[in-house]
Amino acid sequence: MQNERITGIPYDDIGPEYVVEVYDPKLEFKGVLVIDNTALGMGKGGIRMTPTVSTQEVYRLARAMTYKNALAGLPFGGAKAGIIADPRKISTQRKKDIIQSFARLLKPFIPNRYIAGPDMNTTEVEMGWFSQAIKDRTAATGKPKSMKGLPHELGSTGFGVALATKVAAAQKGIELKGARVSIAGFGNVGQFAHKFLQEWGATVIAVSDSSGTVYLRTGLDYATLLQTKEKTGSVLKYPGAKQLSRDIIYELTTNILIPAAGPDVINETNAGKLKTQIIVEGANIPMAEELEVKLHRKNILIVPDIIANAGGVISSYAEYKGFSEKKMFSLVEEKIVPNVEAVLSASKGATTPRAAALRIARERITKARKK
Ligand code: NAD
Repeated sequence: MQNERITGIPYDDIGPEYVVEVYDPKLEFKGVLVIDNTALGMGKGGIRMTPTVSTQEVYRLARAMTYKNALAGLPFGGAKAGIIADPRKISTQRKKDIIQSFARLLKPFIPNRYIAGPDMNTTEVEMGWFSQAIKDRTAATGKPKSMKGLPHELGSTGFGVALATKVAAAQKGIELKGARVSIAGFGNVGQFAHKFLQEWGATVIAVSDSSGTVYLRTGLDYATLLQTKEKTGSVLKYPGAKQLSRDIIYELTTNILIPAAGPDVINETNAGKLKTQIIVEGANIPMAEELEVKLHRKNILIVPDIIANAGGVISSYAEYKGFSEKKMFSLVEEKIVPNVEAVLSASKGATTPRAAALRIARERITKARKK
């Protein structure tokens, strides 16, 4: 039965087990950790740093991690953390102080109940700081190679998203070679999805970041776009491409749309304007579940976040087990491809791919809890 905690978070037969809001009066920042479920293992999920992150958002992301880890067949439960801060407006030193204070505040949960990882606006650098602060190498995955890490900057998540795209295109009868792809968000996930899809012959016609969208009918080259972003701070100055407004990317005619930025970017306002056949959810919760049902009925194939972007957490597991980079990439492929195939074939008719995926995940969690 659904009920309300004092934090306003709904709880059910899965969790959340812990909702921990923290505050550092000296540094004046707030953060939150949600450990949703630990039936399969310690809670695993990244830390995001944004000015708008809320307990509700972190709870939804933690639940997604519970399902994602169960679906990937990993011995991890689900968790997520958030820090309210605008990384573009603070110095590197302040960012480091905040991350390290957050680590100390969460120490009672680490590593038995929670292991951190990177997410929006946190990278291998932050994971290194986090682990150093509490002198525990196992406190976080996605750390720099110098700390025996497998940083997410190797591109595990984007690689998995690209693989999920390949499987979805085949299911929909779309030839990946020459398929038009739009990628909303050009950070860790979006960049590597672009890189691999381009290598496999797709044409990435549009990419956005927080400053806007660039569009080029003949295709945006990954290396040139990355260079443009690194040199100018945004994708907009790509030579010869059209500059468009940020959110118009959701309205462009394309075969495949990959949201790879923040939550709820596809919403009631723009869902009716989508002109795509496939959506591969690179980002976490890029739209509400009800919206996925509506779009599924319109014959848009949606690969849900909980299977499409599991590459990052599979890499975390590989790091936790001490695997090499090569073995990590093989593991991502071995897990993502059959998982996407299984979920898409279980989702014919009225059942959405998410509903099919959730049924599988819930069965695994219930079985583990009974044990
Ligand atoms: P990132 O911080 O590296 O990049 C985010 C990108 O999105 C940046 O290019 C930024 O400019 C852009 N952006 C921000 N707001 C935008 C907006 N409104 N419209 C368009 N672009 C916008 O983040 P990331 O690590 O690539 O993560 C992206 C998403 O993927 C998040 O939802 C994250 O939870 C999810 N995810 C990431 C990983 C990982 O390994 N990095 C793993 C699983 C899921």
